[in-house]
Amino acid sequence: MDASIIKQSVTLSQACQTYGIPINRQGFSRCPFHSGDNTPSFKIYPNNRGFYCFGCGMGGDVITFLMKLFGLNFIDAVKKLNADFNLGLDEKPSYAEYRKVQKLQYEREQAKKQKAELLAELKRLSAIHRKAHQLIINYHGGEPDEATAVAIHNIEFIRYKIEVRETELANLNC
Ligand SMILES: [Zn+2]
Repeated sequence: MDASIIKQSVTLSQACQTYGIPINRQGFSRCPFHSGDNTPSFKIYPNNRGFYCFGCGMGGDVITFLMKLFGLNFIDAVKKLNADFNLGLDEKPSYAEYRKVQKLQYEREQAKKQKAELLAELKRLSAIHRKAHQLIINYHGGEPDEATAVAIHNIEFIRYKIEVRETELANLNC
């Protein structure tokens, strides 16, 4: 059973409709994967380009959607789509496909972790930068006190570090 055929045969909107998740005209719904989503942040992209939740960061294609919604593994999710949408595909899903999805999911999770770390680091650097900047603004010549001297000495390097982290963040695949 070729998972790509399944993906082409069932759109996410069809799946949402079938499994009772109403999508509004802008393609948004309340997220089925996190609670308290009162302003719908679960987005279905047109042309079957998958889903993404701006609240909890969950995303993927129609197969991932079923895996998460029903707590299924890849093969069972494909089987369920096959059965629920009468696709009539009766071969076994390929293990290579399964591995590919697992790998993608792992990579996405790693990227998410890295993103959180980078954001925390940026927040820390920004606070240091703010403080240093304030000290320099308040410095009006003469012999600087120790904190101001350190600020003057370090501020360019702090800016450089912020820039590096921002670039890393922009290059992250998530
Ligand atoms: Zn969510």
